[in-house]
Amino acid sequence: MTTHKLLLLPGDGIGVEIMSEVERIIAILNAKCGGTTFEVEHDLVGGSAIDAHGVAITDAAMAKAAAADAIILGAVGGPKWDDVPYEIRPEAGLLRLRKDFDLFANLRPAICYPALAEASSLKRELVEGLDIMIVRELTSGTYFGEPKEISDIGNGQKRAVDTTVYTTAEIERVIKSACDLARKRSNKVSMAAKWNVMKSGVLWRDVTIATHKDYAPDVELDLILADNCAMQLIRNPKQFDVIATDNLFGDVLSDEAAMMTGSLGMLPSASLGAVDPATGRSKAMYEPVHGSAPDISGQGIANPIATIASLAMALRYSFDMGTQADAIEAAIAQVLDDGLRTADIMQDGATKVGTEDMGKAIAAQVEAKLA
Ligand code: NAD
Repeated sequence: MTTHKLLLLPGDGIGVEIMSEVERIIAILNAKCGGTTFEVEHDLVGGSAIDAHGVAITDAAMAKAAAADAIILGAVGGPKWDDVPYEIRPEAGLLRLRKDFDLFANLRPAICYPALAEASSLKRELVEGLDIMIVRELTSGTYFGEPKEISDIGNGQKRAVDTTVYTTAEIERVIKSACDLARKRSNKVSMAAKWNVMKSGVLWRDVTIATHKDYAPDVELDLILADNCAMQLIRNPKQFDVIATDNLFGDVLSDEAAMMTGSLGMLPSASLGAVDPATGRSKAMYEPVHGSAPDISGQGIANPIATIASLAMALRYSFDMGTQADAIEAAIAQVLDDGLRTADIMQDGATKVGTEDMGKAIAAQVEAKLA
């Protein structure tokens, strides 16, 4: 019997509502996956933790996170905490989790469910069946490099500096993660950088080529200039499988790719740390891309699909449970095909359902697929 420990951190606003639907699916996995059990713990993060303990995540919750095999987070924040001091704001909990566990690889899939292809800003034939994964370096690069400042240079003029800094090791570990992922998908990595005009881009290109040669010669590698990558994503997105890139380009390219596929309520993500040699597993946190949606919180109308799809990512990338991950993703596709829609993805002729009914419908499909 294998036991996997999951820490659920629902957070604030709709985070609480959507996490209940994840628990519904976990109960089915526990009933249907003989030999594997998920042991679930809960704790607070974000505004709810500030209300209870005065900090956005407690040391005790961090200890639970350290002991867990994977963390699933809902969302943090909301107007109630807009005026708390900057150091203890709800996002500080999220940042502490990312920083303390050195979650350097951010995975953002862009999947277009056939039933939602009409909702894309691109033509149906370009996006139907789209399934790409952007791996963005999350803890270094332009957003963290020093110097980072605005200085006065006289005559009413100012000078602003951001610095893009990367080391060989920082690039190497992202490329290894991208290659590991590609092996579980269509075996192709496209590395996007600007080696034509940036020294950091030259290092990204050279380290990628060397890492690929030593670590993953079996994976197809394509080097693409980041600006061309942005164009190709709009022109022919299905040419990509895994796109690996730095923090700045990844921020832009992952939003571009994700938005081709419809609502925020549909988008999962994962943040992975280094592989622990003892377990062969990365520290990992899975969460929807969206926030706590205070405008709809407490109404039972939030779309739980992004968070349920985040659980599917946890099964695939933390626990090697591809069959069960496939079952969850197929269940989501099925309920969409059946015409069920939460308000954010509602279309003419479809049946509008709330959070709980959407969760129950997906759970029923998962149960049937794992029977
Ligand atoms: P948001 O993602 O919470 O909401 C943006 C819009 O999308 C809203 O209209 C919302 O109703 C809708 N939406 C989002 N998720 C949805 C879902 N699952 N189903 C249906 N509709 C959904 O972004 P925001 O309004 O800019 O931010 C609200 C709060 O969330 C802020 O406090 C912000 O700081 C925080 N936030 C947290 C995270 C996180 O926890 N990772 C990410 C983004 C924003």
